[in-house]
Amino acid sequence: MLELRPNCECCDKDLSPDSTEAMICSFECTFCRGCVEGNLNNQCPNCGGNFSQRPIRPGNTLAKFPASTKRVHNSDS
Ligand SMILES: [Zn+2]
Ligand SMILES: [Zn+2]
Repeated sequence: MLELRPNCECCDKDLSPDSTEAMICSFECTFCRGCVEGNLNNQCPNCGGNFSQRPIRPGNTLAKFPASTKRVHNSDS
């Protein structure tokens, strides 16, 4: 199950569980669309993989399977 991380690892932008801007790689490194299409050039800086748009978990299941609130941010970049 996806963690649905709450922010972009690169620019720390908030990415809500229903955001269509959230992009993930196969390891669920999470970035906003702006970073992916911009300086990341559609390649994950952590694992080298490509990105897909994160699927949106329907609201009626979020109560039972809540999104992660643990922010992951790579402060080196
Ligand atoms: Zn970003
Ligand atoms: Zn990755």
